[in-house]
Amino acid sequence: MNQQHHILIVEDEDNLRLALADNLRDEGYSVHAVANATDAKLAVAESQPPDLVLLDIMLPDIDGYSLCREWRTAGHTFGVMMLTARVLEDDILRGFEAGADDYLEKPYRLRVLLARAKALLRRGSSFSSNLFPFGEFKLDEKARILYRGTEEIQVTQKEFDLLLYLLRNEGRALSRDELLDSVWGKNIVVDIRTVDNFISSLKQKLRTTSRGFQIQTVRGVGYRLAIEELLDKA
Ligand code: CA
Repeated sequence: MNQQHHILIVEDEDNLRLALADNLRDEGYSVHAVANATDAKLAVAESQPPDLVLLDIMLPDIDGYSLCREWRTAGHTFGVMMLTARVLEDDILRGFEAGADDYLEKPYRLRVLLARAKALLRRGSSFSSNLFPFGEFKLDEKARILYRGTEEIQVTQKEFDLLLYLLRNEGRALSRDELLDSVWGKNIVVDIRTVDNFISSLKQKLRTTSRGFQIQTVRGVGYRLAIEELLDKA
């Protein structure tokens, strides 16, 4: 093995935790295993950050979703695979929304877990929390959360996607057609004025007292999101 990956296991069932730790060590991984979220936070904060976390959802102190979201908000980009007996689709989606990268139902087969862990580790450094700061706001792409300071701002999925597209193309004039195709999809028939409606509802939600960014109307074209240093030139 050319590089030893470090895996953190967060699992409150002793038998599962010990067995998993043993198996992963046998595979050549460096393993740290804890039984609750408090110890998991300490492990991440105080020692070398893991490359991958195997995270149980039902923990005695803080649930796995909250813990994962907390790490993503703090900018941690390590892979997170959620392990849980809960199999409802909503739970799975909730896990991804919290910033998890993969999800495995219990009881899992060890070989499957090892293969998926290996795949996540291969992706390794391509993990990114994709944070976009603008003005007093911050958009966290992976966790799909928009913040004003530390407060979460409620936006719809489409508003979020639209804002993300504007941020990714910061400073560029974007036509309504391009926005429709990129955010709503090429095969979806939507009134072109939908874009205008979503932009104005976004502007409402992003109303700020401090400058720092603007969503500008580009006459005859569409819109442009301009951040501070670009505002002067606009
Ligand atoms: Ca548990």
